Amino acid sequence: MSFDGARTAGASGGRPERAIGRANGGALAPGLKNGAAPPPTYLTHRLRLNPNSDHRPDNYEDLDLEFSPLIFSSLERYLPPNLLHQARDVKLNYMREILLRYYPENERIRLQKHREYRQKIISNYQRLHLGLYNMHPTNFFVPSFLKAINENTEQAFRNIMSEPSPGIFTFEMLQPRFCEMLLAEVENFEKWVHETKFRIMRPSTMNKYGAVLDDFGMKNMLEKLMEDFIRPMSKVFFPEVGGSNLDSHHGFVLEYGIDRDVDLGFHVDDSEVSLNVCVGKQFSGGELFFRGVRCDKHVNTETQPEEIFDYSHVPGHAVLHRGRHRHGARATTSGNRINLLLWCRSSVFRESKKYQKDFSSWCAECQRDKKERQRQSVAAIKMDLLRREGQTAT
Ligand SMILES: [Zn+2]
Repeated sequence: MSFDGARTAGASGGRPERAIGRANGGALAPGLKNGAAPPPTYLTHRLRLNPNSDHRPDNYEDLDLEFSPLIFSSLERYLPPNLLHQARDVKLNYMREILLRYYPENERIRLQKHREYRQKIISNYQRLHLGLYNMHPTNFFVPSFLKAINENTEQAFRNIMSEPSPGIFTFEMLQPRFCEMLLAEVENFEKWVHETKFRIMRPSTMNKYGAVLDDFGMKNMLEKLMEDFIRPMSKVFFPEVGGSNLDSHHGFVLEYGIDRDVDLGFHVDDSEVSLNVCVGKQFSGGELFFRGVRCDKHVNTETQPEEIFDYSHVPGHAVLHRGRHRHGARATTSGNRINLLLWCRSSVFRESKKYQKDFSSWCAECQRDKKERQRQSVAAIKMDLLRREGQTAT
């Protein structure tokens, strides 16, 4: 099978989940004492590639910042050594400078607009199942999943999971009752959209249907889903793509069927780790096809035979994979299928990626390149040795 190339499915609703208004009118800049060295900036001091795991980060929760306090605490472990023990303000300023590069002026205006859009929906849309909007683990998840999360060990996770192809994990997750409620809520939401002719943003650049759950009130619940349930597993299975410091998400449902989106082209997600759970209902077709993990540079390279893997959805069951694992969904040929998706992102991983060229810890093509370089250097050494032996012999 050949593809035109894998696209990156972008979130049309925008990436940022955490922004909460500009803080303190920029009053955070640490005062410069006469003769003191200028404060470190990201131009002169780069982040470390690996976190300092012994370091205990400061707490940023008392500050009213435009980024989540969690982002600062997790980013702090990556500070250059000479910054680690500086005053909190100095560290904060350095990290803000880095983070703000993600949010230029027009981006911040767009964010503000998105907040207003979200507020408009939340204050007008009448919720059907209030129980969905706050995390109730025992109502949402099957006991086996809860048990594994509580035990929080690799073995406990492996006990409930299969890994049918490297880096693709499947497991039973959602209670049938939760699935029913979510289906009804989405239907209710679509009905409201239709009746009020409210112009909503669809979940990604690749879908005409579906709804962003974060936009109609489920943001906090999904945030908890990421922090307390997905991150512990990602920490074990996807540490090399920021799995242990996932700090923002994009949560949505996709609706497939003859009268909805039919299929989804070959793409990679705008996420580090993606959770994809089938919510229902009756359908045929709609299989996911996976074709290997790739970095940006290698996203359109050929698929190796061992990377080909197809997966058929089972209601209530989840698939967990790296966002860069190339995939698509085949046509749903009859019935309707609704899937819950949670794209989990790590700001730390995204920042550190900028300084790297070799992603052989997760990109299969980078890995092949690296092996080839090693093979060539071994061959060169051998040649050199043989030549020297030849010289000694004569
Ligand atoms: Zn690569």
